[in-house]
Amino acid sequence: MPEAMVETRATDATRSVSTQQVDVAVVGAGFAGLYILHRLRKAGFSAVVLEEAGDVGGTWYWNRYPGARCDIQTIDYSYTFDPELDKAWTWSEKYATQPEILRYLGFVADRYDLRRDIRFGTKVKQATWDDASERWLISTDNGANVSCRHYIMATGCLSAPKPPEIDGVKDFKGEVYFTGRWPHEGVNLKGKRVAVIGTGSSGIQSIPLIAADAAQLTVFQRTPNFALPAGNGPQPTDRKTLFEGDRTTYREQARWSMAGVPYPQQTAVSWQLSDAERRERFEKAWAAGDLVHILTQLWADQAVDVDGNTIVGDLIREKIRNVVKDPEIAAALTPHDHPFGAKRPCLDTNYYATYNRPNVTLVNLRQEPIKEITADGITTDRRSFDVDVIVFATGFDAMTGAILAVHPITGRGGKPLSSVWAGGPQTYLGLTVAGFPNLFMITGPGSPSVLSNMAVSIEQHADWVVDRLIALRDAGFTSMEATETAQAGWTRHMADCSMLTLHRLANTWYTGANVPGKAQGVMPYTGGVGPYRSICNEVVGRGMLGFKLKGPGGAEQCNDGEIVRLQPDVRLVLGMLAEMNLPPIETMGAQGARDFLNEFNKGRPAGRPVGEVGEGMLQGADGPLPYKLYRPATPGPHPIVVYFHGGGWVLGDQQSDDPFCRDMCRRTGMIFVSVGYRHAPDYRFPAAAEDGYAATRWIAEHAADLGGKPGPVLVAGWSAGGNIAAVTCQLARDRGGPEIAGQLLLSPVTDCSFDRPSYIENATGYFLTRGLMFWFWDLYCSPADRTDPRVSPLRGKLEGLPPAFIVTSEFDPLRDEGIAYAEELAKAGVPVEQLKAQGHFHSSFVMVDVVITGVPGRVKMAEALRRFAGLPTQQSDASRHAPPPEVNAAAS
Ligand SMILES: Cc1cc2nc3c(=O)[nH]c(=O)nc-3n(C[C@H](O)[C@H](O)[C@H](O)COP(=O)(O)OP(=O)(O)OC[C@H]3O[C@@H](n4cnc5c(N)ncnc54)[C@H](O)[C@@H]3O)c2cc1C
Repeated sequence: MPEAMVETRATDATRSVSTQQVDVAVVGAGFAGLYILHRLRKAGFSAVVLEEAGDVGGTWYWNRYPGARCDIQTIDYSYTFDPELDKAWTWSEKYATQPEILRYLGFVADRYDLRRDIRFGTKVKQATWDDASERWLISTDNGANVSCRHYIMATGCLSAPKPPEIDGVKDFKGEVYFTGRWPHEGVNLKGKRVAVIGTGSSGIQSIPLIAADAAQLTVFQRTPNFALPAGNGPQPTDRKTLFEGDRTTYREQARWSMAGVPYPQQTAVSWQLSDAERRERFEKAWAAGDLVHILTQLWADQAVDVDGNTIVGDLIREKIRNVVKDPEIAAALTPHDHPFGAKRPCLDTNYYATYNRPNVTLVNLRQEPIKEITADGITTDRRSFDVDVIVFATGFDAMTGAILAVHPITGRGGKPLSSVWAGGPQTYLGLTVAGFPNLFMITGPGSPSVLSNMAVSIEQHADWVVDRLIALRDAGFTSMEATETAQAGWTRHMADCSMLTLHRLANTWYTGANVPGKAQGVMPYTGGVGPYRSICNEVVGRGMLGFKLKGPGGAEQCNDGEIVRLQPDVRLVLGMLAEMNLPPIETMGAQGARDFLNEFNKGRPAGRPVGEVGEGMLQGADGPLPYKLYRPATPGPHPIVVYFHGGGWVLGDQQSDDPFCRDMCRRTGMIFVSVGYRHAPDYRFPAAAEDGYAATRWIAEHAADLGGKPGPVLVAGWSAGGNIAAVTCQLARDRGGPEIAGQLLLSPVTDCSFDRPSYIENATGYFLTRGLMFWFWDLYCSPADRTDPRVSPLRGKLEGLPPAFIVTSEFDPLRDEGIAYAEELAKAGVPVEQLKAQGHFHSSFVMVDVVITGVPGRVKMAEALRRFAGLPTQQSDASRHAPPPEVNAAAS
């Protein structure tokens, strides 16, 4: 059926005798191309694979340098689509060598008889979309061009070696090799003087073996990398047993994991563990010789927080110092300029110990850059090294290099991909590009790709693409194309995701920084393999959201929109809450809801350490109230922030927002006093408001006793607590004090009206529901009192109030009343700043260390409070979240 369509619509150009007609052309015969071909054939598509190399294998065909191996355990770095294949092949080692992986891919090609549809020695040069025939015309450097309905680029993320950036390579009289294009017959380095330029993964794998062979090895290093001992050998029994115990579950867990390897999510955070416990975890990970283990299993904050990450980095730095005998060489080999894991760490066998050999010299290019390559060797700006062989281990033009090397790829309206991507790659799901119908990329920029076990990611991509082609054919459509809206949404989601991890803080090939002139930005998807898979599935489940489908006779379907509007971690949190299938909180009764909240809070990460946490009683409006005080570690006296917790005037207490109070205490360098005001339904309106005011007055009067700075206090609150903070400011103005220097209102209740759009749009699905808000209001305040400014401060007089910082979240029923309060304050002449948090929900900012993307918001809140208190916005002390000076301060 598709070919019939092809024939009727083909233009003269695509009918040329020298043009091969197929449904699908695939470029690349590596892990990806082989599996796609297998799937396409099974689905009844005619297909050809075009491959520049002389045989299958991709990465493992080209990278034959000494020591080339995988660095994901081979038990995981395998195809999983066919359980029989899984059983038919047994890996000999924990990390297989390049020849063994190449044998495996050859075995797969034989088993499914794939080679007969692969044109080897054929490089794809250009690709042009023809709108009339809805086909791609692919031109090659060898044999017939190809006309195809669908064009799949399985060209590899790490398949375009980066050309040398050094003058004079052509003048060199000796031998020159690239690790990524190593000669098949091998290279004899015995007795030779060898230079290796580059200390990325290929350099780190090959240097120990080259050193053992060569008479003299000189390593030219620009940026030191973290490397861990691989501990290679037979397959470890723990993973083997796990795998063989239940292969299906093992593989399925890998598919839904964060990195494509079945490890659980860590929940313990670094500051919950003692030094000894952290050391024990680290030593275990070090001995395990497994990148995914050490990158994910130490503590929950290691990949997302600079403080948690620095602990790992320091432990590794200590290891390097212990191995390398010469302290100066050790220092040069020790990375300081990036968080551990932000740049791809390497697995090694004797890498650091190699620098103890007498025949090895390290040249630190940070201190003495290479000036030129001469006929005899390499000259830095300090000395010359005569060598016989130069090995370039300088890496790849990653992720986009091989795609853009096909030039031009011309889409609809004659637009070349290179110009669409001039400012950096734009994709939808990392799979497709708006304006380029029926073009698919496997592990393209915008997909988890190089941040994952790529075998798992490749299979997911291939399955998704081929399943879409089948569905398209079955529905009678001939083309699919991402919409601009969907692509822009994905670009924004990628940017949101990049705030989740520390990858943005390193200049690496992940960000394009290794290639001069390349646009920079985090290219792989940092949101994780499992979440990515669920998003791809959701696109399909929601009627191909973000795709325009077209068919013969003008048939068209376009379900435009953005697939993820929530922040990535908010999406995960809401997904987990939905899975818990909780009864609505308002059906639990007040005590039941309080018990539920207490239980719920037990599962959250512990708050971070502050200087001191104390408890006490203060005088409320009608009797004593408990409070909790958070004091910074810095010398006082500090300004005081009076804090009111959330919970709809019904739930919570002085410690229910403990992680938030700790975090803000650290960020502001101020004392936070969290007040346990009275709750409904036992104490109804205006009890909470009057307690808020009384507590603020008492705290201001006792500032010195509390170790605080006498003078004006500040107020802050979240949700109903934001309501109390706002009301307190109005009461303090009207009742002659205390003096309040500023108010931080986080998603505050400001009005009793329920008909603003945010109440309707976000009525359900975002934890705080419209129904729950109704219940809170009913318990706290009778309808007759609701317009009283002591509960609806928006209806009060707003002139003369202290400056305000108001935070609202996009997916919160309370969003619009918070915005309205900010706007009315501004009209009344009150200095006010707003943070409208995109993609966040009502609880985002108080879910400290869970909603990581809330960090920049809390940074802004802290800056505002400091400004209100007359302090410089940045703390100068080192006791807070200070990243090491080398690492960009944006990390905190
Ligand atoms: C040394 C090394 C070690 C690695 N170790 C791991 C590991 O342990 N775990 C892991 O997950 N990943 C690892 N990777 C990443 C690895 O690239 C992927 O795991 C995987 O092999 C990619 O498969 P692929 O089919 O997508 O691309 P590739 O294997 O790169 O294959 C792409 C093919 O496309 C061909 N091609 C490209 N452009 C054209 C064109 N214009 N015309 C014709 N043919 C073209 C290339 O010749 C190549 O054969 C490693 C990479 C390297 C370089």
